[in-house]
Amino acid sequence: MPAADLHEDFKRLLKTTPVIDTHNDLPYQLRWQLHYEINEDKFKFDEPLGSQTDLQRLKQGGVGVQFFSCWMECQNPDELYSEFEVPSSIVRDTLEQVDIIKRLVDKYSKSMKFVTSADDALRNYIESDNNKISVTMGVEGLHQVDTSLAVVRQYFDLGVRYITLTHNCDNPFATACTTIIAGKEDKGLTELGHQCIKEFNRIGMMVDLSHVSYKTMVDVLKIAKAPVIFSHSSAYTITNHERNVRDDVLQMVKKNGGVVCVNFVPSFIAREGVEEATIDDCVEHVLHIVNLIGWDHIGIGSDFDGMGSTGPKGLEDVSKYPDLVVKVWEKSGASEDDIKKFMGLNMLRAWKECELVSEAMKNELPVEANWSGRQWRFPDYITLCPELFPGAGTSKSTPEMFYKVKRLNFKDVEGEYDLK
Ligand SMILES: [Zn+2]
Repeated sequence: MPAADLHEDFKRLLKTTPVIDTHNDLPYQLRWQLHYEINEDKFKFDEPLGSQTDLQRLKQGGVGVQFFSCWMECQNPDELYSEFEVPSSIVRDTLEQVDIIKRLVDKYSKSMKFVTSADDALRNYIESDNNKISVTMGVEGLHQVDTSLAVVRQYFDLGVRYITLTHNCDNPFATACTTIIAGKEDKGLTELGHQCIKEFNRIGMMVDLSHVSYKTMVDVLKIAKAPVIFSHSSAYTITNHERNVRDDVLQMVKKNGGVVCVNFVPSFIAREGVEEATIDDCVEHVLHIVNLIGWDHIGIGSDFDGMGSTGPKGLEDVSKYPDLVVKVWEKSGASEDDIKKFMGLNMLRAWKECELVSEAMKNELPVEANWSGRQWRFPDYITLCPELFPGAGTSKSTPEMFYKVKRLNFKDVEGEYDLK
């Protein structure tokens, strides 16, 4: 069928099926370009912007569900980030990303709505007659939880629906693909990482395997109870880059029910020896994945406003998704149902399955595992009062010691230790 007709068919599919993009870095642009000051007239999201993302072009692109990324770079000057105990402002900085996404949605509430479930994401899109984009969030790296599963849980409560296990640095949970590129050992998922996957599944946080090492991918896919996603990765066989997914891992994704959302970053999709990439390269990646594992595991994860370059020729910004879908359709001869899966239904299905797995695990207790390298630091003065803080300054308190505190009447020690 000619492309012109397919464009009309695509418009018809859009009525019931949103385009979903699982990775857009606009929030970081708002950080470094505007220091989050979006109230002023200088920032108008509904007018053309110099970034790759604005409301007009999102609408042209048929985007119905947008995952905005809350990304902060690895904090340690050591690129591979082996020193996990160095104090940092990473949680504050991530919360600011969460905050700016919510404030942006509030400011443009006629065109966007913040959602927290797969059903809500679709319902908002349909009930608004495709006029309101459902907005949700991902966090790009477990370095952003600062070694603590408590932070994972709190991000979920704030509305974060996936976390990428690493960015471009290792962390106490997993090994990053940049470690492999640097020629270092691929240790895969750590013991704490295993516990973390369990907790993700229990609370319904989607596991994102973009940026992680090969062994981390395999380790996770062996134990994950819910579908995983690759929020912005393409096919390794087409472009040999560690950020992409190898064929044996794709087979595991098929078994797991996961979704690989193809990335548009030119250096991840260009053919060998060619610097520039085009929309056709991106189509090649999609078709490779589809030919290998079928239509149930493919999605879109552009990386717009995070690619540090212009997009591939033909995929320059968020208005171009229709061209990609139509080209994939034209070249594959896929059925309407399969094209709808690629546009967004696979991603909604995986999200929903994560929610159902969480529901089935609701009687399990929160995972309390701590990172073994964590130093529990307390001020010196508490060691002066062992009745109140037994074990402090030595090792972990035993339950017996704890109960002793409960029996203690605070007034009894007040005079002795001058605690007023
Ligand atoms: Zn990324």
